[in-house]
Amino acid sequence: MKEYAAAVIGGGPAGMTAALYLLRSGVSVAVVERFAPGGQMLSTEIIENYPGYPGGIKGYELADRMADQLKDFPHDVYRQEVRTVEHQPGRNILRLDEDSIQAKAVIICSGVVWKRLGLEREEVFIGRGISYCALCDANFFKGQAVAAVGGGNTALEESIHLSKIVAKVYLIHRRDAFRGDKIFQDRIQKIANIQCIMNSVVTELLGDDHLTGLKLKRLSDGLESRLDVSALFVFVGSHAPTGFVPKDLRLGPDGFIVTDQEMRTNLPGVFAAGDVRDKLCRQVAAAVGDGATAAHSASLYLNQL
Ligand SMILES: Cc1cc2nc3c(=O)[nH]c(=O)nc-3n(C[C@H](O)[C@H](O)[C@H](O)COP(=O)(O)OP(=O)(O)OC[C@H]3O[C@@H](n4cnc5c(N)ncnc54)[C@H](O)[C@@H]3O)c2cc1C
Repeated sequence: MKEYAAAVIGGGPAGMTAALYLLRSGVSVAVVERFAPGGQMLSTEIIENYPGYPGGIKGYELADRMADQLKDFPHDVYRQEVRTVEHQPGRNILRLDEDSIQAKAVIICSGVVWKRLGLEREEVFIGRGISYCALCDANFFKGQAVAAVGGGNTALEESIHLSKIVAKVYLIHRRDAFRGDKIFQDRIQKIANIQCIMNSVVTELLGDDHLTGLKLKRLSDGLESRLDVSALFVFVGSHAPTGFVPKDLRLGPDGFIVTDQEMRTNLPGVFAAGDVRDKLCRQVAAAVGDGATAAHSASLYLNQL
């Protein structure tokens, strides 16, 4: 079994930054990523809020740039999925699709899974009108009408954020009452450009290259209608892809990993960075910061072994 000082799970911005920092400090590193490097950046048309790129940069381009920078430092990349991580004092065994590897320190950067509505062509429209993040994408729809789906706190908070930027928000919920906190519900009622459409579901996404509208169905009487919008923001939940982590690792709600501010988990030598952490801000800049911090903590851990 091949041995490394550190293994990084996930090749998104958090994982690539963690790997960069570790490699630059002379540590032997394995990066395990089941797809191409880039993570969610690969499904992002333009990233406008990453510092240093006025006017924005295409998601795949930023991913390529980060991946290119890593090529300057020899390291092993496994294009496989991590199935399990077995944690023992001072070492971790990672079982991948085909290989098994050993690492003294592990940095988990496996990101987040945004729950889909399950509609036909939903994947095609991601980045072309469908979004799971108002903070990321609201600005692209300045002055336009958009829809949001969901009934929990995220849907309510994100709709409030959207209402400050877009012309109109249709907030669609399948029940007759929201699940989110009353304080947000009260606030929503007072915002003139948010219109709540209750008891209704989206049944079809309209448009060719880009989303142009939705078909809706009212559940109480089956009435169908059409809504012209430039975007649909889906806020029906998220979870962390952490089914593979050691069984004693402390997880928060929906499987997100609990860390301290140095990205340390409750298990010595196991760190987490980026969207997989139990935290509020899920952005590229935040993931990069987490990755750097986790690598620094992992280096300190390795030095004292
Ligand atoms: C449509 C969209 C638009 C966005 N727009 C913006 C924006 O404009 N600005 C911004 O700052 N942020 C934006 N974001 C959010 C941003 O992309 C994320 O916050 C960021 O990518 C998180 O980085 P990460 O490295 O933590 O996780 P991710 O980017 O999710 O990367 C995680 C990686 O881990 C891999 N992985 C998971 N499990 C395993 C496993 N078991 N084995 C091997 N590999 C595994 C995944 O394949 C993935 O590549 C957007 C997100 C989306 C979906």
